[in-house]
Amino acid sequence: MADCLFCNIAAGRIPSKRVFADDRVYAFEDIAPQAPTHILVIPRRHISRLSEMAPEDAALAGELLARTAAIAKERGLTDFRIVANDGAGAGQSVFHLHLHLLGGRGLGWPPG
Ligand code: 5GP
Ligand code: ZN
Repeated sequence: MADCLFCNIAAGRIPSKRVFADDRVYAFEDIAPQAPTHILVIPRRHISRLSEMAPEDAALAGELLARTAAIAKERGLTDFRIVANDGAGAGQSVFHLHLHLLGGRGLGWPPG
């Protein structure tokens, strides 16, 4: 989507600190980190939010989750959190599906 921030980041049209890239998945450092590790993992294909994933996207969903956990492992994180904010009321501000990887500090529960 031409006017989507994360589509443009994944395509390299807007700069980001890349963590991982293949032909389906892109991962980059969050611009306003909320923890020592705060990485966003996105599909290259535009999907607005988690609840817009279709049954045929199951493999992609698994890939995103597995890649996020692999990045956590690479970073040496033994305790971390993976978050998908789905909808404005849940804190979603960018409507291109993304998983947050947060770690490197204690994480309270329940989240706000
Ligand atoms: P949401 O609130 O939608 O769950 O998360 C959006 C995330 O994107 C936020 O953590 C925010 O800091 C991050 N973000 C917003 N704009 C940019 C940007 O231009 N570059 C990067 N790297 N992160 C961004
Ligand atoms: Zn997009």
